[in-house]
Amino acid sequence: MLRKKVHSKKTTIDINKKNTVKKIIKRDLKVLWHPCTQMKDHEKIPLIPIKKGKGVWIEDFNNRKYIDAISSWWVNLFGHSNPYINSQINKQLNKLEHVLLAGFTHMPAIELSEQLVKLMPKDITKCFFTDNGSSAIDAALKMSFHYWKNKGYKKKSKFVALSNSYHGETLGSLSISNIDLYKKTYEKILKKTIIVPSPDCFYKKSNKSNEEHTEEMFKHMLKTIKKHHQYIAGIVVEPLVQCAGYMRMYHPIYLSLLSEACKKYNIHLIADEIAVGFGRTGSMFAFEQAKITPDIICLSKGITGGYMTLSAILTNEEIYNTFYAEYNKLKAFLHSHSYTANPIACSAALASLKLFNKYDTLKKNKVLSKYIYEKLTSLNNHKNVAEVRQHGMITAVEMIKNKSRRTSFNWKERRGIKAYLYGLNNNVLIRPLGNVIYFMPPYVIKKNEIDLSCEVIKGAIDEATK
Ligand SMILES: *Cc1c(COP(=O)(O)O)cnc(C)c1O
Repeated sequence: MLRKKVHSKKTTIDINKKNTVKKIIKRDLKVLWHPCTQMKDHEKIPLIPIKKGKGVWIEDFNNRKYIDAISSWWVNLFGHSNPYINSQINKQLNKLEHVLLAGFTHMPAIELSEQLVKLMPKDITKCFFTDNGSSAIDAALKMSFHYWKNKGYKKKSKFVALSNSYHGETLGSLSISNIDLYKKTYEKILKKTIIVPSPDCFYKKSNKSNEEHTEEMFKHMLKTIKKHHQYIAGIVVEPLVQCAGYMRMYHPIYLSLLSEACKKYNIHLIADEIAVGFGRTGSMFAFEQAKITPDIICLSKGITGGYMTLSAILTNEEIYNTFYAEYNKLKAFLHSHSYTANPIACSAALASLKLFNKYDTLKKNKVLSKYIYEKLTSLNNHKNVAEVRQHGMITAVEMIKNKSRRTSFNWKERRGIKAYLYGLNNNVLIRPLGNVIYFMPPYVIKKNEIDLSCEVIKGAIDEATK
């Protein structure tokens, strides 16, 4: 009798929870259109309402927890609901939630600009804010084009980007991107861009080192520069890792050679550090590994520790000064977004930067990334794994159909989704890019959480390549 009662009580709770979740999902699907989603997929693949997050864990309405192994699309650095960032946001909230940044200013924007400039090479002295990654890229393109116009270079209106690049989803940023999945449909309404083969080391010959391959691939870029430099305003690259481009990686030598050529041929080097900035590749910014100073640097994603939407475009005195003139010369950069440098977002960013020092993050990440590599490197022997690659805190495993022939799985098989569902069933959120499973966790991840994540990644690969 007693046993039955307990049992039935438990069942009721479960059913209630299930109903709650069902109701939430129903409400969602009635009104919400989700990003990067074929909504029909949700007839079969469950939508997961999340109730709360703490550290690397997010928790759903069934009290099921998942390790956020992809930092919620690469934004989270110091865990969900970080007590220090929370407290700093709360403080700011009680002072000033927002004010326009034209004609007015506020301390969080000033302090954040100072700190970002301080983190940059010495020639980078000015910080312009926008409010998401794509808009930062659009602003950078406009800034570069407008600079040359102000300088009297009337022909410079073209941009160069790498194949397999991703710079965002607005028309401007999508124009300089090169992943068919996102771009092809919209080709007709986009601006033409010059695309140069990427130095992507996945395609290197087996007798070459990453450095040799990367250096060799630069000849394509140099050819383009020599041919078109009069028309080129800027060259945009994702330093070291093409993240949305299946986490493909290349050697820093490419950036050194590119920087040199850009200087020689009067072209802006625009570094899209939106995904790789703030420690992801091991250094604070990825371009540092090539010891270069880009002309324009775009930051977003991790800038607020994953809390709020904010982006920054950093540049040098030369570019800034070219816009600095009497008003009637009409040289000003009249670009704006309503929420430019939102004070709450800036205070989250300041708190996040403070944590880099407090936790000695870059140094600790060296230990973590080595540990992660040790845990995953055995996958190199897996019959359906082409390679395990890593740059700092970004580790990727590329699944392949036939290892010796290097043939890929057909994309229609959607093997990544099998891995994704396996991950969810085993408490780890992985969201593969095509046939590439990657691990890009918040920096506060603990060793036992890495152990679990890597075990689940291995299981997911077995499951997906069956
Ligand atoms: C995510 C991303 C962007 C676009 O940023 P959004 O905030 O999503 O618009 C641009 N460039 C790179 C390299 C990115 O990873």
